[in-house]
Amino acid sequence: MASLQSLRGMVDLLPEHTPLWQQVEATARDHFRRAAVREIRTPLLEVTELFARGIGEATDVVGKEMYTFLDRGERSCTLRPEGTASVVRAAIQHGLLSQGPQRLWYGGPMFRYERPQAGRQRQFHQIGLELLGFADARSDVEAIAIAWDLLADLGVEGLALELNTLGSPDDRARYREQLVAWLEAHRDQLDPDSQARIHTNPLRVLDSKHPDTQALLAEAPSLADALSAESQERFAQVQAGLTALAIPFVRNPRLVRGLDYYSHTAFEITSSQLGAQATVCGGGRYDGLVQQLGGAATPAIGWALGMERLVLLLSQGAVAPPPGPDLYVVSRGTLAEAQALLLARHCRRAGLAVERDAGGAAFAKQFKRADRSGAPFAAVIGDAEAEAEMVLLKDLRGERPDERLTWEQLLQRLAAA
Ligand code: ATP
Ligand code: MG
Repeated sequence: MASLQSLRGMVDLLPEHTPLWQQVEATARDHFRRAAVREIRTPLLEVTELFARGIGEATDVVGKEMYTFLDRGERSCTLRPEGTASVVRAAIQHGLLSQGPQRLWYGGPMFRYERPQAGRQRQFHQIGLELLGFADARSDVEAIAIAWDLLADLGVEGLALELNTLGSPDDRARYREQLVAWLEAHRDQLDPDSQARIHTNPLRVLDSKHPDTQALLAEAPSLADALSAESQERFAQVQAGLTALAIPFVRNPRLVRGLDYYSHTAFEITSSQLGAQATVCGGGRYDGLVQQLGGAATPAIGWALGMERLVLLLSQGAVAPPPGPDLYVVSRGTLAEAQALLLARHCRRAGLAVERDAGGAAFAKQFKRADRSGAPFAAVIGDAEAEAEMVLLKDLRGERPDERLTWEQLLQRLAAA
């Protein structure tokens, strides 16, 4: 029968990959703990309207990339393409925001129907932070610092923080008018995607990857010129805060997040080692979202970090091979094989990592597998040991002579090793 394959863009993480993922996840968890950020877990499947309202119909994510289907009750459902909308929905639904500001993080798979390539998959994983109910510029700095310190602690090198401000909703509305007028006047010189966005999502045109459009945009009116004095002052505070924490940044006036409810700070952390998919972490302030999803007006800032891209960066460096078990149990004969399982369980209850040979093979073969497992010791149970309820402890890596031990002596011996 023909064998089955995973869907395109849906990637298996094999046992050789998971240790690095676990290490990244553990480090992230620890950073969130130290920053007093609590974990929230929301469903992978939500009503489609959540993302239509929470991300915006005019975005690529909602317009082209969502996995949407009718369930058996004819309700339109969508596999989450990102985490923020769900976190905000949950915070509203459970009244978290009436309990005061919320410092939340989430992690897990996201789904977007994109063209798969290095650093771009259809199921991918994010870790994200959301600070809900935080208005001032210091919260922007704190959010960025949590991401920056996490990446630095993981040992990712060559990162750049790109920073921009989108101003207040009023600034944006004013700028939008200027930009649309300018884009209309230059319509013929724009690439087709950008032409299509002139009225639906004009700010996103600034973000076009098309080289001719990019060159043309050098002449476009700039958002920075449309900022009110308050917005400029706020942006100056964010920059001063980053400087005070010695977090280097570059200003990128072309950096936009294409969603209507984004305002003020927008940022990305990029790596030159990632090629076209350079952004590891993206985020910004979304003061309008909670209201857009039916909650009370609540200022907020957050970011999301792409795990695949982060792991790509880390696996370019040297990664320590995962540790083997503490003990490998070798056994031969009916009684011995039955005892091997009991012994393995006994040792596991004491906290040791124990691998038990599948059994049946000759001792020589079992020793070969014990050696390959990376375990420092093998506990051998043959007929004689089984009769006496003892094991023969073999040092697989050093020169120590074999020892005949009771199970309790074995535990003591390994605890001392
Ligand atoms: P891009 O411009 O690369 O498509 P984006 O703006 O769509 O990114 P966000 O929605 O801000 O990305 O998601 C935050 C992060 O999640 C990205 O910076 C990236 O690291 C990661 N990410 C986004 N889409 C994918 C994907 N399809 N596969 C792998 N990682 C992704
Ligand atoms: Mg994208």
